[in-house]
Amino acid sequence: MANYRIAGETGEWEIVVGLEVHAQIRSRAKLFSGAATEFGAEPNTQVSPVDAGMPGMLPVINEFCVAQAIKTGLGLRAAINRVSTFERKQYFYADLPQGYQISQYEHPLVGEGTIYLDMPDGEVVPVGIERLHMEQDAGKSLHDQEPGKTYIDLNRSGVALMEIVSKPDIRSPEQAGAYITKLQSILRYLEVCDGNMAEGSMRCDINVSVRRPDGGLGTRCEVKNVNSVRFIMQAIEVEAMRQINVIEEGGEVVQETRLFDSRKGETRSLRGKEEAHDYRYFPDPDLLELEVDDAWIDEIRQTMPELPDEKKTRFIQDYGLGAYDAGVLVAERDTADFYESVAAGRDPKTTANWVTGAYFGALNKAGIDLGDAPVDAAMLGELIDLMSDGTISGRIAKDVFEEMWESGRKAGDIVEEKGLKQISDTAELEAIVDRIVSENPKQVAQVQEGNKKVMGWFVGQVMKATGGKANPQTVNEILGRKLG
Ligand code: MN
Repeated sequence: MANYRIAGETGEWEIVVGLEVHAQIRSRAKLFSGAATEFGAEPNTQVSPVDAGMPGMLPVINEFCVAQAIKTGLGLRAAINRVSTFERKQYFYADLPQGYQISQYEHPLVGEGTIYLDMPDGEVVPVGIERLHMEQDAGKSLHDQEPGKTYIDLNRSGVALMEIVSKPDIRSPEQAGAYITKLQSILRYLEVCDGNMAEGSMRCDINVSVRRPDGGLGTRCEVKNVNSVRFIMQAIEVEAMRQINVIEEGGEVVQETRLFDSRKGETRSLRGKEEAHDYRYFPDPDLLELEVDDAWIDEIRQTMPELPDEKKTRFIQDYGLGAYDAGVLVAERDTADFYESVAAGRDPKTTANWVTGAYFGALNKAGIDLGDAPVDAAMLGELIDLMSDGTISGRIAKDVFEEMWESGRKAGDIVEEKGLKQISDTAELEAIVDRIVSENPKQVAQVQEGNKKVMGWFVGQVMKATGGKANPQTVNEILGRKLG
């Protein structure tokens, strides 16, 4: 693993990070009630008596949600526990009418697993998964509806969450970013969570501590509820720096929960240290132990798609791509499918260059998704074919692509209409070369004195004269013959 160090006043420091991600399970009903879960509904329209914590109501486990959590566990290469239990975690929050959250504590559904991070330099970094447990979400307090009042919206109350806890294996903000991105990718491949951080379907708590390189673990602070990859990376950086400053000034880091203020770029203390016993966990007497059998797990395993890691390995082997390009292409299922459909029957590397280069560049610039792009797989394939069979040059292909993106028209039509076909006709090119040679005796003399750079200048002149349409190979041949 690449060593990431921070130079402090008194020597080097290492960051230690563990992440707890709350991922909302894609399910139309809640974890223990049949109420709907759709995002953005009118407040308090998706609330059953169970979700409102009415006395005497009994929770009933949603089988589909359990299946989704098992599927996720399999996707994280994790152990699925045949028996797990639901417990009550006591809180007082205005938006938690039950007075407790039903969660899993001592016996979670999913045990240890691994996520592999794809770093930009092609390095693959394993990060351990400690556990995955199921729990219900709380409601939401709305403080901005009316001055002096707080409103409560219980639509989210009881929504099924998976809390995915990593081991403290993450050593830099970049790795934390890569972890979230990879987890998001796996959840989306599995279709168990939409991974939408802006809508809160994926929320991240960050445990940060610092230590001397390879020393023992330092005291950690938890930064709560950070909701974008960029903010997670920033929060780790500023929190680690804060802790380093505290220690270097002779103080001690106090274990506490903190909030990240993205506007000020700082973390602030929210509340003091809390430990498991503060929640008074105990098994929920309304719910039986959750037992899952091997047959059901096997059945779920049969529904698993090819996951990003396996796809990446296949792309490297079958298409001869580099690790980084393969990682980029498989990050989303749509993108991987798009690549494969363009690459079918074409040169895989040329295709990868076009997809990760010009095509992704255009998508990013336009800020749109693959599904809304004006150029589809067949159209991009046609453009690559025109280039591969020599009809157009690589330089012209870039212009044609831009034109396709703007107009939504096909490559062949644009090439035809604008007369962009590459000139490979030797006689035609020879005439142009002859003219340029006779017009520039000084440069000819330079070439004959052995100045190779001027040869390139001649190629450039021919390209200019043909509007970039000359076949560069043919031009080089002719020039070599005339001047060499
Ligand atoms: Mn939780």
